Amino acid sequence: MSDEINMTISIPTDDDGYVLLQCEHCGTYFKATPSDLEDDRVLHIFCPSCGLISENYVTEDVFELAMKTVTNAVNDMIYNEFKKMERHSKKGIITFKVEKRPKHENEDPIRSGIEAMEICNFSCCERTTKIKPLLKMTGAYCPFCGVKNYEIE
Ligand SMILES: [Zn+2]
Ligand SMILES: [Zn+2]
Repeated sequence: MSDEINMTISIPTDDDGYVLLQCEHCGTYFKATPSDLEDDRVLHIFCPSCGLISENYVTEDVFELAMKTVTNAVNDMIYNEFKKMERHSKKGIITFKVEKRPKHENEDPIRSGIEAMEICNFSCCERTTKIKPLLKMTGAYCPFCGVKNYEIE
């Protein structure tokens, strides 16, 4: 094992491939696909609820999740190293037993209120986003151009 640990932490997407975002102005959660978010033609991301632009949409949950992923990976690595030592030291003077695998921290980001989002198609940009059903009913700003849509499919 080398001393260096390289890990890529990617922001997790849900089953439909959407990334969770949070408006720093009003705290509204919404989701968008990485391909839309990284599109050069999309200059700003607008909050679907208040219509403002946030500097940073990465939620604390996503950050915490990334930290947990690292912790879990490091714990596994330590465990595996100790396991190897255990095997090598069977007939040696030092004997020790590694008990069970370290328990993994739950990697699920917080769920309540976030799961119940519906995919909406904003016809102005032909892009989709996931928002809460209530927001869909009352009308929402298109995250990609900031225009308020009232009839959302
Ligand atoms: Zn907002
Ligand atoms: Zn739009």
